[in-house]
Amino acid sequence: MSASPDGIRAEVRAWIGSNWDPSLPLLDWRRRLLAGGWAAPSWPEQWHGRGLPAWADGIVASELAAADAVGTPLGGGTFLAGPTILDHGPDSLRERFLAPILTGEETWCQLFSEPGAGSDLAGVTTHAELDGDRWIVNGQKLWNTSAHHADFGILVARTNWDVPKHRGLTYFVIPMHQPGVEVRSLRQMNFHRSFNEVFLTDAEIPREYVVGAVGDGWKVALTTLSYERRFAGIGAERASLRADGLAREQARAELDDYLQTYRWYPQRAGRADLVADHARLRGVDDDPVVRQEIARLHSMARVSEWTAARARAARALGRPPGAEGSIGKLASSNIARQASRVHSLIGGAHGMLNGPDTAFAGLIAEVLVSTPAQSIAGGTDEIQHNILGERVLDLPREPSGLEDTPFRDVPRNR
Ligand SMILES: Cc1cc2nc3c(=O)[nH]c(=O)nc-3n(C[C@H](O)[C@H](O)[C@H](O)COP(=O)(O)OP(=O)(O)OC[C@H]3O[C@@H](n4cnc5c(N)ncnc54)[C@H](O)[C@@H]3O)c2cc1C
Repeated sequence: MSASPDGIRAEVRAWIGSNWDPSLPLLDWRRRLLAGGWAAPSWPEQWHGRGLPAWADGIVASELAAADAVGTPLGGGTFLAGPTILDHGPDSLRERFLAPILTGEETWCQLFSEPGAGSDLAGVTTHAELDGDRWIVNGQKLWNTSAHHADFGILVARTNWDVPKHRGLTYFVIPMHQPGVEVRSLRQMNFHRSFNEVFLTDAEIPREYVVGAVGDGWKVALTTLSYERRFAGIGAERASLRADGLAREQARAELDDYLQTYRWYPQRAGRADLVADHARLRGVDDDPVVRQEIARLHSMARVSEWTAARARAARALGRPPGAEGSIGKLASSNIARQASRVHSLIGGAHGMLNGPDTAFAGLIAEVLVSTPAQSIAGGTDEIQHNILGERVLDLPREPSGLEDTPFRDVPRNR
């Protein structure tokens, strides 16, 4: 097979032409996509892919979208757990989990943050102890998106207190449906409920559900975080799914269900697309200050699009992820903040009104209380600055003086 973009495009187009059947049940279609190697074409042939370069994923997604054919499901499984398990193994977990992730049969959440460990993820105190053929886990996780309907979680837990903090962590797959896992939903200031706190009390994990090696969890977690930043900036094309057919109908239901959790995310990003209409609606579109702020917002958004395009181009060339992930993430925070500022400037006190008779049915008020999350989720702005300073600009790391201290002796809140 030719590995040129045109060759791959022609091949997948022909394959879709002779295999896509919208009347199939969704699961049957996804299994066919998987068997054809087109669900994750950049993954190795042994693991449901075709061993193609990373840029092939985008080509295949755009061909599926052009045919209005269903692709792989959205979510923490496809974006985070799957690629991490693929990268670090072992084979037994690749065998067990990768296919149901790509078909959407099993859903996932991320159990990293804790009340005392968010930015300082290596400081987690949730711990796991081996007891015969299972790990017993105790502790609390926090801000866990979609944990309320996930089948499995990717979990970072401490397995050794007697080594420095980064070296005592292990990365697990934890089954969520068990008595030791209690998921409590949190209500946000925008009234949505997309994340949870998760209490782990003698929760059980099969002994072999360790991703990578015991004690190597920090390295594995960094892989997940780099996928998180990468996918935050690069969206794949998706089918509109407007036409008929059982597969599309079931995919629409799956998507609606998924988006229940994320329906405030566009507002979190600032809704720059509404700014000009908002200004016209309020009759301030000829105000020079408002116009200047709108122009500033649009130029920030354009520059950010170019950064994302640069990231896509680097990916297409098979280059490892560079600074674009952190730059893109910072840019998205700045855009959200600026958009929120401009909406406030335009709407004044009216912007705070919620409900169906307000501007854009309360969306502006939702923007104002949702944008702060943009600069926290997936690593705060300050942490992105640190990453850029230390890993890109090669500035000296901030010394904590505790690098060699066993975690047991590191001072922390109790
Ligand atoms: C919408 C959303 C979805 C999320 N989903 C998930 C999820 O699914 N799973 C999950 O595990 N977590 C999730 N999180 C949690 C998120 O990863 C954490 O909130 C984030 O890492 C920050 O941690 P923290 O909230 O504990 O803040 P802290 O780490 O306590 O930070 C508080 C403040 O101190 C600053 N700060 C901390 N350390 C430094 C430093 N070294 N240098 C400079 N400044 C510093 C921070 O920038 C911040 O301003 C989600 C968060 C949000 C908002």
